[in-house]
Order: sequence, then C-alpha cells, then structure tokens
Amino acid sequence: MANRPSGPARTRGWSRLQAWVVVAFFVVLPLPLALGFGWFGLNPVEAERNAPVGSLSHELLNSFPDNRLVVEIASAPGATPPSASMSLLWARMNETVQKASIQFVLETVSVPSASFTSDGLFSVEQSVRQFWPSVGQMAIFFLCVHGSYADQSGVLGLAFRGSSIAVFTDTIESTAGGGDPAPITSTVLIHEFGHELGLVGLVGSAPNEDPGHPGHSTDPNDVMYYAVESSAGLAGLLGGTAPPTQFGAADLADLQTVRNTPIPLELLPPVVVAGCWVAAGVAVLVFRRAARQA
Ligand SMILES: [Zn+2]
Repeated sequence: MANRPSGPARTRGWSRLQAWVVVAFFVVLPLPLALGFGWFGLNPVEAERNAPVGSLSHELLNSFPDNRLVVEIASAPGATPPSASMSLLWARMNETVQKASIQFVLETVSVPSASFTSDGLFSVEQSVRQFWPSVGQMAIFFLCVHGSYADQSGVLGLAFRGSSIAVFTDTIESTAGGGDPAPITSTVLIHEFGHELGLVGLVGSAPNEDPGHPGHSTDPNDVMYYAVESSAGLAGLLGGTAPPTQFGAADLADLQTVRNTPIPLELLPPVVVAGCWVAAGVAVLVFRRAARQA
C-alpha cells in the first residue's frame, strides 16, 4: 500500500495574522459607516427641509447630534426685525437649546410684497436660504417679509416647516398702531420659535395646552398663548400692556422632557459600535481557543 504523499503541516484554526485582520475589521468598521452615512443618517437633510412644524424639536433642543445652531434671518428691505427683538430671541434660545454655539446670520433679500401661501413661502425660502440642517449643525430660518398670509387674515407670524418661520412685518406694524413694533415683533419671533420647539403639545405631554386652541397655552402670560399670533387676538390681549415674551413653567418642563428623550436614530450609532466591538471580542476568543487546540 502506497504511502500517502506528505505535504506541509497544516495548522488548525486561523493564523495569527488572519485573526487580527478579522478583529481589526470589526474594530474600525464603525468609522467608514460614520463617514459614509453621516453618523448613520442622523441628519437626513432632504427630509429635514420638508419636516413638519415641531418635528425637529429634539434636534433643536439637544446638543446631539447637532451641537451648533445657525439662526438665519432673511429680510426684505425695510422688514428687518428690531435689534431689541433679535436680542430677546437670542436670550430665549439660550434658555432653551443646548448648543456649543448659536450664530445669528442677517441678510437682506429681494422678496416682493405679496399675499403668501405656505407653499409660496417655502418656494421663496428655497431660493434665498443659505443655511440648512446639516451633519453636526442645526439651522432655523426666519423670513421677514412685507405683505400678508393668504390663508388667514391678521396673521403676524407663521411656522410653516420644521425649521422655517415667516414674519409679516406690515401686519405687525399695523397692529402696533404707529407705536414701537419691537415688543410685538419680539413676541412673534419667540412664539413661532416655540412652535418649532414642539410647543404646545406638538410633541411632549403639554398639560397646559388649550383644548380650544390646539398648539397653544391656556396662560395669557405665556408667549405660547394663542392670541399672540394674530393681530386681532393680540390687540385684545394687550390692553395697553406689553405682550408676553417668556415661556411658561409648563412649557419649560415640557422642553426639558423632549430634550432628554432620545430620538430612535440616536440609538443607532452606539448599537452599531457596540455590536462591532462585541464581534471583535468574540473573534479574539475564537482565535485563542483555536490556538490552544492547535
Ligand atoms: Zn401659535
């Protein structure tokens, strides 16, 4: 009986090099995924452009995934908000959002006076807006125009997309009746910003929501009171006093909850990273066991 041909000795299991290649693969896998998908699609930019009002509240409020906020204020000539109003908006933003930086960008844009629909505002926005939500950066856009809102008379301001707000300067000035428009402008800017944060009840629990005026507060001292956003409502509310510019305690508690509640996509990166590292650990164990048995 012929002897079987002898060849090089075969080792059982993986070679050391093969094992470390497998381990290294799982360890570094999260990196190309993060680069390729922009942190696994946490910032689906196109979706955020068309996002419903209030749906980006967590991204606005929390430092993750977007740790910067750009506030773009684009105004038709003569429609720029008073500096006092922008300062107060800045203060309210710093009270509510957690970002490493909040940058205001002021622009003058050519927008003819018109009766604007929501879609018409969005069309103007797409032609003039410079800063959109992007990886690591949240952005919010204020379009300050002459003219009015087509779908309802007397509207002072309107949140028309998840990061898009319109301000109707002429209606604010006529509501001020020749007086200083700054207090009303402040109220309108902060009220519409509040809607983008998900107030009242657009997200969160909102025990202070007025069932007769969904999305608004029952408290007339709250900037989210329903009467704040229309000329007639504000005139009735004012009675010679300054309109509210502060979020109520119930609003702030609601924002705290929304800020601290992760959105599902936020959980994806740590799950993927943990899964890869567990796989790398299992590969190490398998390699060691195979090496002992060789
Ligand atoms: Zn409102």
